[in-house]
Amino acid sequence: MRDLQALTRPNIWNLKPYSSARNEYSGHVARVFLDANENPYHAPLNRYPDPLQTELKGKIAVMKQVAEEQIFLGNGSDEAIDLVYRCFTNPGEDNVVAIEPTYGMYQVCADINDVEYRPVLLDANFQLSANRLLAATDAQTKVIWICSPNNPTGNNMDRNEIIQILEKFDGIVVIDEAYGDFSEQRSFRFDLDKYPKLIVLNTFSKAWGCAAIRLGMAFADKEIINLFNKVKYPYNVNLLTQREALSILQQQDQVSAWVDVLLEERTRLFEAFRQLPCCKRVFPTDANFFLARVTDAPSIYAYLVDQGIIVRNRHKVSLCKDCLRITIGTKEEDDELLVALRNYE
Ligand SMILES: *Cc1c(COP(=O)(O)O)cnc(C)c1O
Repeated sequence: MRDLQALTRPNIWNLKPYSSARNEYSGHVARVFLDANENPYHAPLNRYPDPLQTELKGKIAVMKQVAEEQIFLGNGSDEAIDLVYRCFTNPGEDNVVAIEPTYGMYQVCADINDVEYRPVLLDANFQLSANRLLAATDAQTKVIWICSPNNPTGNNMDRNEIIQILEKFDGIVVIDEAYGDFSEQRSFRFDLDKYPKLIVLNTFSKAWGCAAIRLGMAFADKEIINLFNKVKYPYNVNLLTQREALSILQQQDQVSAWVDVLLEERTRLFEAFRQLPCCKRVFPTDANFFLARVTDAPSIYAYLVDQGIIVRNRHKVSLCKDCLRITIGTKEEDDELLVALRNYE
């Protein structure tokens, strides 16, 4: 069994983090701030934001039912994805294993960090196999990447297979639940105490309707969160983002209502889409999008762009030949798509 130190880059394990002006006086009530070379005018934007986003994490802890020390907040989930590489993988030496196809950032960040990326194909139903993923690992494998519901396929990964990976892999397992808010599956963040090397990702970019503020979450054992906090930029989540996130957290009813509407609209669009002459197959989904195999994805994609309608062309992605990924929009937007496709050819 490798402990967390054995999995961590030695320089990161030994890193002495930057100590910001606002970290050093903690425990006292402060009134006059002459420590950070800020401008005293133009409040509140003149002040550096809380580097550890304490108030926001308090609210997220309640909503997500995890401890505050088990939460990392970053500039999108993409920051957490990059931190996984920077904390746990040695460039030019280590490798990671991932399901394929999946979200492209896992590979981009591997390439940036000069870490070998080992994709393992899903089966014909876009399901993962624990045995096949584990067979791709070796002594230099530090991380396994799983995304559930998966992007671009839309389906949940088999829970029992994921549990097998959590039980058998001696390293970090990341489960990206960016679309978890749309799925009935129980989140793996409730199993953090059982699996101290599990990292669960979440985001404000999808169900929460806040892609613009760039706020992603990682849930993990507090030792992993401490590593992330050490390596991240000191003020990685700006004040405007923290403020906006606190505000959307007051509107959870609105968010649930959006999810309900989108799930209902998903059923309608999915059923209508499968009747289209150009549609060969629609794949089951647990997210706010679905994958469809069409007669000729590149040409249908170009036709839609011509009409001002943008979908995601996944034709060149493994197992996704002639597939388009369709995000659920408003009823009006989705009707525009359907009308355009009924007029295709
Ligand atoms: C959209 C998406 C994210 C979100 O990334 P952010 O940086 O938080 O916007 C993360 N993972 C997957 C699989 C996604 O599809």
